[in-house]
Amino acid sequence: MTGIFDTHAHYDDERFDEDRDTLLQALPQKGVCRVINCGVTLASSRTTLALSHKYDYIYAAIGIHPEDCGDAAESDYDALMELYCDPKVVAVGEIGLDYYWDTVPKDVQIKAFERQLVLANELDLPVIVHDREAHADTMMLLQKHRPRGILHCFSGSVETMQEAVKLGFYIGLGGAVTFKNAKKPLAVAAAVPLDRLLLETDCPYMAPVPFRGKRNDSSLIAYVAETIAAVRGMEPQVLIDQCRENADRLFQLK
Ligand SMILES: [Zn+2]
Repeated sequence: MTGIFDTHAHYDDERFDEDRDTLLQALPQKGVCRVINCGVTLASSRTTLALSHKYDYIYAAIGIHPEDCGDAAESDYDALMELYCDPKVVAVGEIGLDYYWDTVPKDVQIKAFERQLVLANELDLPVIVHDREAHADTMMLLQKHRPRGILHCFSGSVETMQEAVKLGFYIGLGGAVTFKNAKKPLAVAAAVPLDRLLLETDCPYMAPVPFRGKRNDSSLIAYVAETIAAVRGMEPQVLIDQCRENADRLFQLK
């Protein structure tokens, strides 16, 4: 398959330290045409930006992740502001709420999420949103601030998906649709309007079956596309092409 657009990757992760450049040089030959790397802290936002400068096909999303916002200082947000001027930055992310891991108090997460939603609107950039076990608060804040963007690794119900689509949001799906007991993600994959679907890895995590538990990379999106295309009764390559067009539209590329 060709023309794969991975809308969510973490190639700055230490699990790529051993062979990062070899892998990133090889991905275009494996059908990958664009990747959005997502920062989660100031430091990883800087590394993300450096990767986007080294590789033409990599773009940067920069921001503070909900699991990391407890440690973020005011000076981190100031430093991020300077990075947003870079032309390779196409989104504010990865931001959001995570009520699964109890590491950062809810009010701290909500404050960090809201300030970055406000910033995205000011910068006229889309947001890449992480929502784990926090659907109600996430939707409430998106309703309030009305940014453009994507709900990445979408794990909500078909009803929540429809609510998000009504708000103009895109739905990111990855390896989870291939897992056993993937009833909910598959129902979402079948029901989401074709012009709002995006493909992603969240690599190094979430490798699709038959690589579940191993290190993920953007070329494995082919397996995700096959699974989603099967439930929708379409050709995987047609799905990949449509999802790439969707991502180009959202991130205003090409
Ligand atoms: Zn992520």
